[in-house]
Amino acid sequence: LNDTVLQYQITEFGFGDRLLVARDITQLVRLEQTRQDFVANASHELRTPLTVIRGYLETFLDQELPKPLTRAMNQMQIQASRMESLVADLLFLSRLEASQHIPDENPIRIQEMLHSIQQDALILARSQNKTHEITLNIDTEYDLLGQPQELHSAFSNLIFNAVRYSPQKGEINIQWWVDQEGGHFAVQDNGLGIESIHLSRLTERFYRVDEGRSSSTGGTGLGLAIVKHALHRHGAKLTIESQLGKGSLFSCHFPLDMLDKVKPLESIV
Ligand code: ADP
Repeated sequence: LNDTVLQYQITEFGFGDRLLVARDITQLVRLEQTRQDFVANASHELRTPLTVIRGYLETFLDQELPKPLTRAMNQMQIQASRMESLVADLLFLSRLEASQHIPDENPIRIQEMLHSIQQDALILARSQNKTHEITLNIDTEYDLLGQPQELHSAFSNLIFNAVRYSPQKGEINIQWWVDQEGGHFAVQDNGLGIESIHLSRLTERFYRVDEGRSSSTGGTGLGLAIVKHALHRHGAKLTIESQLGKGSLFSCHFPLDMLDKVKPLESIV
């Protein structure tokens, strides 16, 4: 049949004997497609009503209202914003899942991108009353080829997590360097850290190490799933090293063909 999907597995037994097993995974593929379509459609449909609710709340909050009502409205506005971020992340993730490879590759000025995320991270830290030190260590010889919005999202999710999961006065280091294997982006923090049993499941949607720890930090539970998918589309890999109570190191490894040598200033006309 035309839309049948088969998965083949070959096992070698020595002496030239081989066993070929073909598995019909058509139903599995269809189910996965239905799930992806459902999430994409549901999040798209949720966007408009949410925008209307937010609009009304803003109009009410502009007026002189009794104190308890203002308090309730403020809470509603905070929750509506959370829902908007969640819907935006769900939509973004389903777009990433919909295709395996990036549509086009643009040169990304990595120094500028990381500097701007660093500034946003400092603002985030301040909003949580934290005085983190956030440093940048960047190899300025190479840039990266890719899809800017996806890489911005991947890098900022990792950097914002470092801010959110580090208690007061954290030290966060952002690095970009190139060696003979490719380009490497890394974020190191000396924050809460993660127990090793959780590491392999961290990039699953809505997987959280500890609900109590995450609920106050304002994430959507989709950050690392977005990072994983965005990297996969760039042929890159995520590695995570962490120690509970000591801190974490999240690294993204890009292949050599995704690098772009920065042109010296005099050669730019
Ligand atoms: P969210 O942060 O919104 O819960 P993520 O997918 O970004 O979702 O992260 C998944 C979980 O991984 C988080 O809930 C948190 O427990 C853990 N985590 C992520 N980054 C860090 C970090 N830098 N330090 C400690 N824990 C982290």
